[in-house]
Amino acid sequence: MTLASPHTPSSAAPLVIVGAGPIGLAATAHAVERGLPVVVLEQGSQVGAAVREWGHVRLFSPWAELVDPAAGRLLADAGWSSPEPDVAPTGLDWVQRYLEPLAEVLRTRGAVVRTGARVVGVARRGRDLLVVDGRAEVPFAVHVRSAAGGTGEGTEREDVVEAAAVVDASGTWGRPGPLGADGWPAPGEAHAADRIAYRVPDLADEAVRRRHAGRHTVVAGAGASAQNALVALGAVAREVPGTRVTWLLRRGSVLRALGAGEADGLAGRGALGLAARAAADATAVTTVTGFRTVAVEAQADGRLRLVPDAGEPVGDVDEVVAVTGFRPDHDWLAQVRLDLDPELGCPRALADGIHPAHHSCGTVAPHGAALLRQPEEGLYLVGMKSYGRAPSFLAMTGHEQVRSIVAEVGGDHAAAAAVELVLPETGVCGAAPAFDGAPATSCCSPSSPVTDLVLEVAARP
Ligand SMILES: Cc1cc2nc3c(=O)[nH]c(=O)nc-3n(C[C@H](O)[C@H](O)[C@H](O)COP(=O)(O)OP(=O)(O)OC[C@H]3O[C@@H](n4cnc5c(N)ncnc54)[C@H](O)[C@@H]3O)c2cc1C
Repeated sequence: MTLASPHTPSSAAPLVIVGAGPIGLAATAHAVERGLPVVVLEQGSQVGAAVREWGHVRLFSPWAELVDPAAGRLLADAGWSSPEPDVAPTGLDWVQRYLEPLAEVLRTRGAVVRTGARVVGVARRGRDLLVVDGRAEVPFAVHVRSAAGGTGEGTEREDVVEAAAVVDASGTWGRPGPLGADGWPAPGEAHAADRIAYRVPDLADEAVRRRHAGRHTVVAGAGASAQNALVALGAVAREVPGTRVTWLLRRGSVLRALGAGEADGLAGRGALGLAARAAADATAVTTVTGFRTVAVEAQADGRLRLVPDAGEPVGDVDEVVAVTGFRPDHDWLAQVRLDLDPELGCPRALADGIHPAHHSCGTVAPHGAALLRQPEEGLYLVGMKSYGRAPSFLAMTGHEQVRSIVAEVGGDHAAAAAVELVLPETGVCGAAPAFDGAPATSCCSPSSPVTDLVLEVAARP
């Protein structure tokens, strides 16, 4: 049954979604299906702005796991032919074959999708965080900055959009973690910025390739991005003599980082781990575990020396690829009430299920409005941002999140409470950086040893 509430979206105060990434647009699709007035605010000049920036990376998930069910229905009604379900697209494919047509369909179905619109603040109208009285009776005031017909300084204009409810789907892409092991940029890191990239390099780009070919690159990090970088750089090393890669991991074990291989219920992710393992075994790649960077020094020849808290430095470094995870930006939520986990910065109720110290699998239970709602009634964190610093977010999980939340916003509490997603058992866990090689705690049974598995390394774009 559908029940109206003070937070039911109307044309004067619609549902406002921050971010036109895969999960923000999925939320919009659910709102359109339910006939709710909805406005999407995207800071980039086009939808899918964050995914475009890693467009050269091939996802480990196939199309079947990357199309939200409501979005798929709306697209099908508009004559869209869905891509092959078993094929894993690149980020750019995801944008061009899905997000762009989806945004068009959503617009024709009445959704407002504003690009070049950066949300810089959310509050209750006329009430800062200290004001207690009447918060729930007034709409949200969403402060937006957008280009006013120009691009330079001083050409931005600001407006305020009123909202019955706010879904924050702004992701974490804009805040990569630093190289410094204690979470702050290491001394010298900022100074070396011209040699440090905080994303997987696009080695199909000749200018980028020249920075790495025949030179020494350090890859720091253990997750899927680090593995992608390792595989791509490994392919360059096979082609260009003199190319060297040093893979730095804080954790004490490579096996933990590379996951369950063929036992991974997410086959593409397992294959990536196996390919990274093969790349790491190549002679051009040196793996150093238990390495925690505390300083970045410039050598006399201009190259870098990375200094750990214990052990030998890694010197003669031409380039660094630091892919150490992402952080959520809560600055523009400072005037609304949040209840966040102190370690992950995710909604507190979700933290136990996703903390990498004890749970890094895709076996995270599907969840929705009940876990993600904030003390500020009508405000929800979803998508990549809902996981805070936890690395294991899957688009499928986000689709279920927004299905439930939009149902709740629309007053359909039965649909909001129902669970409509079965996630695969992955057998991948214990991915938290165990200190000094101590065994990481694990939520799954031990995975099959990747050392026994052989895989042909596929060069990824
Ligand atoms: C390299 C990489 C590979 C991945 N591979 C997979 C995979 O194979 N399978 C899988 O399931 N998941 C994968 N993920 C994880 C996840 O599904 C993606 O990151 C996905 O893009 C998350 O979607 P999102 O909508 O939550 O965030 P994003 O895609 O980051 O979108 C957020 C949007 O919000 C906008 N935004 C940010 N701040 C503001 C603001 N203040 N105002 C307005 N707009 C704002 C951004 O410009 C962006 O367009 C991968 C992630 C990365 C980084």
